[in-house]
Amino acid sequence: MTRAITVKDIQLFPIAMPFVERLRTSFGEEPFKTAIIVALHTDEGITGWGECAAEIHPGYSYETMGTAMHVLSEFLAPALLGKKITDALEVPALISSTRGHPLAKHAIEAAVWDALAKVNDQTLAQAFAAHLPAGHTSRGYANVGVSIGIKPTVEDTIAIIRQRVNEGYGRIKLKIQPGWDVELARGVRQAFPDILLMLDANSAYTLADAEHLKQLDAFNLLMLEQPLGHDDIYEHSKLQPQMSTRICLDESILSADDTRMALELGACKIINLKPARVSGYAESLEIYKVCVEHDTPLWIGGLMETGIGRAANVAFASLPGVTLPCDISATSRYFTQDLSEPPFELQPGSRLNVPSGLGIGVEVIEERVHAAAKLWHEQYPYQQS
Ligand code: MG
Repeated sequence: MTRAITVKDIQLFPIAMPFVERLRTSFGEEPFKTAIIVALHTDEGITGWGECAAEIHPGYSYETMGTAMHVLSEFLAPALLGKKITDALEVPALISSTRGHPLAKHAIEAAVWDALAKVNDQTLAQAFAAHLPAGHTSRGYANVGVSIGIKPTVEDTIAIIRQRVNEGYGRIKLKIQPGWDVELARGVRQAFPDILLMLDANSAYTLADAEHLKQLDAFNLLMLEQPLGHDDIYEHSKLQPQMSTRICLDESILSADDTRMALELGACKIINLKPARVSGYAESLEIYKVCVEHDTPLWIGGLMETGIGRAANVAFASLPGVTLPCDISATSRYFTQDLSEPPFELQPGSRLNVPSGLGIGVEVIEERVHAAAKLWHEQYPYQQS
């Protein structure tokens, strides 16, 4: 018998946290991780936690901290207040009058998943598995790898890979862009002939670069991620047949329908699923099922979540249909102190264990959420009206 929750109150905490290493993207350098932490309180006094992975700049996603605060506070939270919810799969319909804004929707849905799992004495991994065919139960751990940004030289990149391999990471992902691709792959492959190596282009190329990209076939890559347009599926379907390297789609996949279209058009052979990008775990479960039906390798990407979002993603990544190493690294790669305890630590075999507690399974330290909210207000006063 499933127990329902009734949503009594929803608090939103915009936060900033110092990164261990400054993050360099094509938009510049951000010294702080930003997010909106959602605390959903039930009438029985249970709190469910969610995390919105919005950034300052509308780069990876069109959503920003400003748009996500607006959409969460004006539309999504009011749509859930006072509602009795028996299954987190009900949430997408409750908020369907708001179009788009997947990062904001994911955050509020995640808080419902956490609260419902807690009142039903389940871990989040068990709650997810309950919505999948028999046999799709959690392994108890996620296979993970590490992502490395663009560095000044191939030698610098090799040095960082050596460090990460020594830490125990079993899969290396390198960001590429025109002028930083074939020679990088050649140099890294020479230094590490056997490592699981993949490249992520974040939409830096066009179909006119097909001949150039085909040179990457020489380096036994696990995959090439999102070479063409961020919203393209069709041109990827023209590129994939020309390459022996498997293409993985990330940015282009916003739904289970997109996944089916991409696989049936032959636009890719691997899916990177970021639950935040596809508006939550309900849609993520549908994408998971499409990948299982198509016998397609699947892995979980990351948006440098705090422990709150990371815990939920590790739980999803522990499901057996997630067949490739995920972009979820240990806490120490990102933060000196996280919002939750215990921190995620890399285990032998390049794994992260699923936390054992109910719901997201980690304990949210509320003083740290308040401190991170204070830092947000100090660092980004221009973001606030
Ligand atoms: Mg990517």
